[in-house]
Amino acid sequence: MSKFIVGLTGGIGSGKTAASDWFKAQGVAIVDADVVSREVVEPGTPALAAIGAHFGSEVLQADGRLDRAALRRIVFDKPDERRWLEQLLHPLIAQEIVRQLAAATSAYAMLVSPLLFETGQKAFVKRTLLIDVPEDVQVARTATRDKVEEAQVKAIMAAQMSRADRRARADDIVVNDGTLAELHARLVPLHARYLELAQG
Ligand code: ATP
Repeated sequence: MSKFIVGLTGGIGSGKTAASDWFKAQGVAIVDADVVSREVVEPGTPALAAIGAHFGSEVLQADGRLDRAALRRIVFDKPDERRWLEQLLHPLIAQEIVRQLAAATSAYAMLVSPLLFETGQKAFVKRTLLIDVPEDVQVARTATRDKVEEAQVKAIMAAQMSRADRRARADDIVVNDGTLAELHARLVPLHARYLELAQG
């Protein structure tokens, strides 16, 4: 079991996946909170059964999987329903994150989460790494990747924690404003430091 856990976070399209893919290639075990949040509602899980019973078949796709977009629309302007859903899912997600982190055998492990600072997930990590990016770069890269309007990306960013707040909270910051090769080069000394900290 890896005892030293680094939490990696950043805003939409900041480069969390680009960075965590590099750490993964160095042999670091990666637990992705977004992936876990989908795993806990896979067909056959008690959580999906509870959601189906509560909201009805309109939140299920024809193949029995959760229709996440439909669910988002339903809870969007209903704080009580949103709270019901969060009270069901957050403990399950936390439990599964802990289980996967406990199973990691690399020198240190990494929890990748867009909501590391906003949720209790920070409690699972010893150190935090922010993938930071100037807003104009963030908007351009996300709009290109998701094939959406820049205005839509800006609206999502406005609902997320501000860049300044994230920077104030992080132990380590890597600015991802160059090429992928430059990003990787900036991660090299951090990986070395985390290996050191994991041993000490
Ligand atoms: P999200 O939270 O939205 O899932 P993310 O933080 O995981 O996003 P990525 O998907 O890694 O971000 O990066 C966003 C987009 O920008 C991707 O298309 C990625 O390939 C691209 N990208 C990331 N870093 C760089 C870089 N240094 N140079 C060029 N493109 C990059």
